[in-house]
Amino acid sequence: MAKKPEKRSWAEPFKIKVVEPIKMLTVKEREKAAKEAGYNTFLLRSEDVYIDLLTDSGTNAMSDNQWAGMMLGDEAYAGSKNFYHLESNIQKYYGMPYFVPTHQGRAAEHMISKILIKPGDYIPGNMYFTTTRLHQELAGGTFVDVIIDEAHIPEAEHPFKGNIDLKKLEKLVKQVGADKIPYISMAGPVNMAGGQPFSMKNLQKVYEFAKKHKIRLWMDATRAVENAYFIKMRERGYKSKTIAEILLEMMSYFEGIWVSAKKDLMVNIGGFLATKDKKVFEEARNMVVVYEGLHTYGGLAGRDMEAMARGIEEMVQFDMIRTRVGQVEYLGNKLLSYGIPIVRPIGGHAVFLDAKKFLSHLPQDEFPAQTLAAEIYIDSGVRSMERGIVSAGRDPKTGKHRYPKLELVRLTLPRRVYTQAHLDVTAESIAAVYERRKSVKGLKMVYEPKYLRFFQGRFKRLK
Ligand SMILES: *Cc1c(COP(=O)(O)O)cnc(C)c1O
Repeated sequence: MAKKPEKRSWAEPFKIKVVEPIKMLTVKEREKAAKEAGYNTFLLRSEDVYIDLLTDSGTNAMSDNQWAGMMLGDEAYAGSKNFYHLESNIQKYYGMPYFVPTHQGRAAEHMISKILIKPGDYIPGNMYFTTTRLHQELAGGTFVDVIIDEAHIPEAEHPFKGNIDLKKLEKLVKQVGADKIPYISMAGPVNMAGGQPFSMKNLQKVYEFAKKHKIRLWMDATRAVENAYFIKMRERGYKSKTIAEILLEMMSYFEGIWVSAKKDLMVNIGGFLATKDKKVFEEARNMVVVYEGLHTYGGLAGRDMEAMARGIEEMVQFDMIRTRVGQVEYLGNKLLSYGIPIVRPIGGHAVFLDAKKFLSHLPQDEFPAQTLAAEIYIDSGVRSMERGIVSAGRDPKTGKHRYPKLELVRLTLPRRVYTQAHLDVTAESIAAVYERRKSVKGLKMVYEPKYLRFFQGRFKRLK
């Protein structure tokens, strides 16, 4: 009997015009490569990787329209026309009148931290992000996590695990006083919680709270479009709104944003700071000259700004963002069907394996997530990354490891790069490692850099 399809599928709103060959090493060669890289997937050579799910940062496939824009780069030192194109799209889609380009997101984080934070300040946020918190700390601030408790529980089903807990926020204000809080740092979807969004309702409450206490509200809007997509799909009253409308409403509550363009904007490099606050803008515009370059290029080439401007127009198309999140869901559901423990609900940019459950025989000191990422690479050449104790780093005051509740391996999907078949290969490889999980040995750290140790730390296998 012929089988009827159970549903009507969606497919990518594009076809492939250029391809880049990839190669697959043998298991033995990968064993060697992993050892040489100190069992740190950041230290592998890209050439030795078969399917690269390390990060979605700058790994996007640009459209033919973006590439065409690259040829229209105006490489003038000052006043490039691409700057003005980008400025007008930031005004139109983010609703922010002022903007300063930067070479990537962390440069904007550096500037906003320096401008707003005084030593001894506290910065509440919905879970930390590695570079964001580091810049806040380098500016003399202390980051305080005010995300809802559910965000720290991998299996807790909640549609908006990125929400801020207003009671935690209230408690902090009572403890340290509003004048010690230069701004609330909100992000969404929250990467470290597994790509979990916040709701518009929660944002509105945080906005009211901030207004009442005269605290600024700023956003890490690097993935704001993914967050807008979840609001459209999950929150009452937003189903018939466009992604662009939801993004604009979201932005209406913030005084300013910093953005890594290497994510939502589907480019390979870029970032910016945008704000409604003229004073902050003027300071940032002055500071960018010191650290990045003139304020009309900020460490970027004109062509990069043109690709960003065009990327903004593409990122708000519903089909584009549905494909993006839909691919993540496809991989996540496939892993669930194999009984593999992952963070629920499935996030916006990545699937997160629960390494504590996956390698339940390893104590956190033996770096279960770091170990698992290395094992998956050795099995199939799929590259993922650690988001656990290594990423969490040490407490600057005590010098001890921070022991995060979440010990995760992140499989991040570059935008418009891989097909469903690549995702099948990935899921099957993880299932194979899961089969032999009991035989997996942990790691010890043999080299530890001072900052952001997950990028350059080196490990050895325990016997
Ligand atoms: C990537 C990222 C950053 C840092 O941006 P870079 O462009 O890598 O410097 C900051 N915040 C979030 C949420 C990010 O995803």
